Amino acid sequence: MDSNNNYYGTVHTYVKVQEKCLKAICSEQRCCCDLACQYLAIVEVLERDVEQLPKYRGRTVVHHITKVKTSNRLMAVPVVNIMRKLLKVDVSSGCFLCSLPNPYEKD
Ligand SMILES: [Zn+2]
Repeated sequence: MDSNNNYYGTVHTYVKVQEKCLKAICSEQRCCCDLACQYLAIVEVLERDVEQLPKYRGRTVVHHITKVKTSNRLMAVPVVNIMRKLLKVDVSSGCFLCSLPNPYEKD
């Protein structure tokens, strides 16, 4: 996730939340009612680290890498609200998020 007012996070899992059908007939046979459902991602919030990559002459040189730290805060985010994917790299000096050059490429 990215940009104004939004969070960075790492997806732990995806869940489907569906209304439970309460009609008596559906408890006896397979329910075919049109129930509202929502797809959510369980996301651990990543906070932007105060310490970022070193600047060169006071200017940020590397724009596509953000240093983050884990928060142990989980939240459920509707999948449609996920803005884009970033690459998460864990190394000894910390955890970094990198914008991918091509966000539309699929595995
Ligand atoms: Zn039903």
